[in-house]
Amino acid sequence: MNGYGTHNGGGAAGEASAPAVAIAPGPTNQPKVLVRELKKDETTFHLSGVDLAYANSLRRTMMADVPTIAIDQVSFYQNTSPIPDEMLAHRLGMVPLVSRNAIKGLRYTRDCDCDEGCYYCMVTLRLKVSAANREYGQHMVVTSDMLEVIPSPRTPGANPYGGDEPIGPEEDEIIRHRDADLGQPVGKGDATAPPIQLARIGRGQEIEVVCKAYKGIAKHHAKWSPLSAVAFEYDPYNKLRHTTYWFETDEDAEWPLSKNAEFEAPPDPSQPFDFHAVPSTFYFSAESVGALPVKDVFDQACDIIVQNLAQIVLAVQQETGGGDEDEEDEGPGGIVEPGYGGGGGPNGGPDGYGGDGYGGYDAYGGGGGGGGGGWGQPPQQGGAPSWAASPLRR
Ligand SMILES: [Zn+2]
Repeated sequence: MNGYGTHNGGGAAGEASAPAVAIAPGPTNQPKVLVRELKKDETTFHLSGVDLAYANSLRRTMMADVPTIAIDQVSFYQNTSPIPDEMLAHRLGMVPLVSRNAIKGLRYTRDCDCDEGCYYCMVTLRLKVSAANREYGQHMVVTSDMLEVIPSPRTPGANPYGGDEPIGPEEDEIIRHRDADLGQPVGKGDATAPPIQLARIGRGQEIEVVCKAYKGIAKHHAKWSPLSAVAFEYDPYNKLRHTTYWFETDEDAEWPLSKNAEFEAPPDPSQPFDFHAVPSTFYFSAESVGALPVKDVFDQACDIIVQNLAQIVLAVQQETGGGDEDEEDEGPGGIVEPGYGGGGGPNGGPDGYGGDGYGGYDAYGGGGGGGGGGWGQPPQQGGAPSWAASPLRR
C-alpha cells in the first residue's frame, strides 16, 4: 500500500470512519483504493468496495469533469503556410497546456465580469514564426514549443502606464493558487519530450497568431480532457459471465488472462454459479496527457463527485421537503428552477458549477431558455408551467 493509501472514495458513502483493514469482496459501501503503480502521467490502481455504477462514475468524472485549460480562440494576423487557418486553429486547440491547479488558479470565463478575457479567466499565447531567411528547398518545422505565454489583459503589474486595478479577495485567491507554468505547452523545455508538430513552412512563409486559452471541461470538448485514456476491468476470470467470449477452437488459448487475474482467486468448477454475485473490485488504469499529474486528476475527480452528489441530495431535499432549509424558497406548486445551477443557491461551488449552470454557455444549454437551461432540457414554449418540468421531477 502506497500512494493514496486508504481513500474513502471522497466520502461519497458518508462512511468517514472506514476501517483500515482489507475489505472482503462483496460489500459495496466501503470504497478503498490500492495503488499498484503511480507515475507522473500513468497510474494503475484497484478500486474495491464499490459497485459498478460508482466505478463508472469515477471513470467518467476523471475523463470529462476535471477542468484543464486549452486554446479556444485564435486570432490570425498572418498565415502564409500551406495549412488553412481553421486546420491550424484546430491543431492549436488540441495542444495540451500545463493546467496544474487550474481548478483554483483560473476562473471559468463565463463566471468572469470581463468582456474579452483577462488574467483571471484566460491565458494568452502567441505563435510568431517566420522562414524568411531559409534557402530554397529548406523548410522550418513549427512546433508547440514555439508557443509563448504573453500577459493577458488586467495582468497585475503588466501595464507600466496604468495603475494596477484594485484586487479583491477572489482575485487574490486566484493569484495565490496560480501555477507559474500555467498555460505553457506541455513538454516545452523538456529535452526528453518531443514537441508537437503544428506545421511546416517554407522560404518566405510565416505564421503569426494570438491564442486565447480558457478553462473548460471535456464534457464541452475533448480538448479539455486531462486524460488520454482511462479504463477499468473487473472480474478477469469472467466468473460473473457478464460477457461471452467468441472463439474459433479453444477459448482459453484465444483469450489469455489479463495481468489483473493474479489478484483474484480462479473459479472453482465444482461450485454452482452464484446468481447473486456482483463485481466489487475494479482494476483502473489511467494515462494523462501531461496537463495535470494523474494523481491530481484522481483527487480532483473525487472532490467533484462529492460536490455533484451533494447537489443532488440538496435538490432532492428541496423537492421532497426532506431537508429543514429552503422550504420557503419553493414557489407555489413546488416549482423549482431548472438546471443544476440553482441560481446561486447553496449549490454554487467554488469551481463554477453553480451560478449560471451549464446553460447559456454554449449550444448544450437547450436553446438558452433562461435561468440556466440544463442538460438535455429542450426549450419549452407556450405555457408558464413549463418550468415545473425539471429533470429532477420525473
Ligand atoms: Zn476575465
